[in-house]
Amino acid sequence: DILEPRERAMVEERARLLGPAYRLFYKRPVHFVRGEGVWLFDTDGNRYLDAYNNVASVGHCHPHVVDAICTQSQTLNTHTRYLGQPILDYAARILKTFPPELSHVMFTCTGSEANDLALRIARAFTGKQGVIVTENAYHGVTESIAAASPSLGPDIAGRKRIKTVPLPGEGQKAGAQFADDVRKAAAGFEEEGVGLAALLVDPIFSSDGLRPDPAGFLRPAIDEVHEAGGVFIADEVQSGFGRTGSHFWGFERHGIVPDLVTMGKPMGNGHPVAAVVAAPAVVAPFGKSVRYFNTFGGNAVSCAAANAVLDVIEREQLTANAVAVGAYLAQRLHRALTGHPAIGAIRTVGLFAAIDIVEAETGKKPAPQGADRIVNAMCDKRILISATGREGHTLKIRPPLIFETGHVDILVEALCDIIGTPTHDIRAGENPTDEV
Ligand code: PMP
Repeated sequence: DILEPRERAMVEERARLLGPAYRLFYKRPVHFVRGEGVWLFDTDGNRYLDAYNNVASVGHCHPHVVDAICTQSQTLNTHTRYLGQPILDYAARILKTFPPELSHVMFTCTGSEANDLALRIARAFTGKQGVIVTENAYHGVTESIAAASPSLGPDIAGRKRIKTVPLPGEGQKAGAQFADDVRKAAAGFEEEGVGLAALLVDPIFSSDGLRPDPAGFLRPAIDEVHEAGGVFIADEVQSGFGRTGSHFWGFERHGIVPDLVTMGKPMGNGHPVAAVVAAPAVVAPFGKSVRYFNTFGGNAVSCAAANAVLDVIEREQLTANAVAVGAYLAQRLHRALTGHPAIGAIRTVGLFAAIDIVEAETGKKPAPQGADRIVNAMCDKRILISATGREGHTLKIRPPLIFETGHVDILVEALCDIIGTPTHDIRAGENPTDEV
């Protein structure tokens, strides 16, 4: 047993109190009691380099965000059925980051709820039900959205309204192939009398193992969706708020304007706030038939937190930092790992890197256990990363946007230590991959 008695007791207490559906990260679970910037501190005061959490995107416990939450909490926190300035200030500010076609914003508390609301809006607008997602997508936890999240496994109800398409291939043909798959899925919905309501994708395909390139490849698929009478929903929960560096939103990379955009995670730097941004014509039928009220969504404290996050992104120039430090990360990873027999592809965009771990003998076959071993060995070295993708063999590196080149050095050196020379053994044990 690799767990200390104290950890073992907590693991057992979780199972007793929280039940069987929860999973912990890492073979030796970590117990954090404090966070600051890119660092998380455990109960013994050891610090861990956070190269994974995109929620604390402007850094753990950023003082400006904490102050904004405290100040607004001490003043007033009510729902959105009274007049209030914070929701309007934030709405106006966030909408400025979008093309003018997208001029309404509706607030929720989680990314799941934002996607759920987006599907309701899309179904009301099109009068159709079918939704296309990629085959290892994760979009959240509500009943309709869990059905649209194949990474959760096959046993989820509601699948007759969902079709999956394969992850876009790589290279110049990616756009045409993906568009073709989307067209076939839309035609299938039409034949079944379900019809197409929406294509829902993360524009950089984070849970599918990251597919940012070639930039622009989503455009032909969006044309197919519109041709079939559906709408395009960009799930920006992972790709938004400057993660890709070159753009504030992931969809911008493809030179497209979605009909609906959902966001969450980094929006409040840990405070639960999320949203749907919509073109007015798309939200109109929903607005006519339904009253929307969300008790906590868009409350004054959430808006203060979200507003403070935008202040920090601007003041600390974090999108520029994602470009610069992301480029350094990409360069160091390629230099250190390209050509290693256990390394397949390395894909990066902004401050997001994905590394496919493969069986060294074939240089091709996915090696999820190898990825798992690396993730756990990194945790033993007090660096947090994870693994993702359909096969679970893709290392996922997605640090807070305040990451610096010195942090990249620590990360890459540890990875090289673990992955080692071409003959180094990277066999592994088991650990669930993430989809969060
Ligand atoms: N969409 C994507 C792309 C996500 O990564 C996640 C969360 N991992 C969600 C939606 C759901 O967000 P939440 O956990 O806030 O409900």
